[in-house]
Amino acid sequence: MALDNHSPIAKQDPEVWKAFVAEEERQDTTLELIASENHVSPAVLQAAGSIFTNKYAEGYPGRRYYGGCENMDTIENIARDRVKQLFGCDHANVQPSSGSQANQAVFLATMQPGSRFGESEQREKNPDQPVRTPGDMILSLDLDHGGHLTHGKHVNMSGKWFRVTHYGVNRETGRIDMDEVRRLARQCKPKMIITGASAYSRIWDWDAFAEIAEDVGAMLLADIAHIAGLVAAGEHPSPVPVCDFVTTTTHKTLRGPRGGLAMCKEQWAKKLDSAVFPGMQGGPLMHAVAAKAVAFGEALQPGFKDYQKRVIENAKTLAESLISRKLNIVSGGTDNHVMLVDLRDGFPDVTGAMAEDWLGQAGIVVNKNMIPFDERKPMETSGLRLGTPALTTRGLGPDEMRTVAELITKAIGSAGDASVLGNIRNDVREMCKQFKLPHA
Ligand SMILES: *Cc1c(COP(=O)(O)O)cnc(C)c1O
Repeated sequence: MALDNHSPIAKQDPEVWKAFVAEEERQDTTLELIASENHVSPAVLQAAGSIFTNKYAEGYPGRRYYGGCENMDTIENIARDRVKQLFGCDHANVQPSSGSQANQAVFLATMQPGSRFGESEQREKNPDQPVRTPGDMILSLDLDHGGHLTHGKHVNMSGKWFRVTHYGVNRETGRIDMDEVRRLARQCKPKMIITGASAYSRIWDWDAFAEIAEDVGAMLLADIAHIAGLVAAGEHPSPVPVCDFVTTTTHKTLRGPRGGLAMCKEQWAKKLDSAVFPGMQGGPLMHAVAAKAVAFGEALQPGFKDYQKRVIENAKTLAESLISRKLNIVSGGTDNHVMLVDLRDGFPDVTGAMAEDWLGQAGIVVNKNMIPFDERKPMETSGLRLGTPALTTRGLGPDEMRTVAELITKAIGSAGDASVLGNIRNDVREMCKQFKLPHA
């Protein structure tokens, strides 16, 4: 399904079509190392752009608020059944439109927010009376240590409505220190402990978290947005047996459409479903649900496990090659699909923002990222986050990872020199010609 210049959009809307053509060219000729991105299969792409976008299906299979939903029910039931098969969960809700909304639904189902709104107004009227009732407490990984916005960052709803305590990684090891988590949990008495991250390259010890949650009477949420594909394939331990809730995106290692998914123990099923609809959302994006169903079907095929194994092997090779070229990796390497490059030793004058820009000019797409205990600002950073899911989908293997490490190091060492970056850009184009996008 490569782009067709006689397609309806091309004929009807040249202005928008231009961006389609440019984006296909960009994806086709650049190396995608953003750890949260992937390339979906032609079948998933077709489902995502399908007639299921025409239909309202508020409610759940068998209990809809609109007529004509029989095919919606089929699709949603298939999607839910496949999730149960993939992850072995009691209950699945495939309607969240994003990973963030899956998390918000869990919060809505389980936690009480603080009353912060109108605070200043009430304080003016009644200066001696403290009016703010505290929200429930979340214990989660610090954003600067690899956590996610929706785990209690002050600019996010989760940080505005709830009290938050963060655990971090150990300064020496770059790994989560379970003694520290236990100490903080006993101190802050959280209602919910959140595990999972956007930039953590080591294995999560779900059992240790479950034991701490039990110890302090907290609920446990695993947000496996990044590693869901690895978990589904058995290439990372599963949190499903020990967690009250497991949330994820469907578009990262899981290689489905942009979207979210929430799973829970049977006892929470009703509350979770009510929180997603009517609590958080109206009509579900049924074209996305259809694409999720197709993607979950792909994830149940034997080839998916092989893909996830290759994602990890590629990440390990990339990390080792970068380390051999004097680029530090936080925690010294990776067990999964992602790694955080610490630029400070090898390139003390280069910020993450500069490196992202130069790599971009060379056709290597990455994102700057804070590293734990970073002294630079979030728009500068001292780190880069790299991931291998998209390159692995294109078919690149360990040999190519060594070449990619060489190109990355060259670009970072170029000091922005346009001719050096131009040469790398040509090498990248050549590589991309050998490894086609799945829909090409
Ligand atoms: C990507 C991510 C999300 C959010 O996903 P969106 O679909 O962008 O809302 C949530 N949690 C973690 C840990 C993530 O990495």
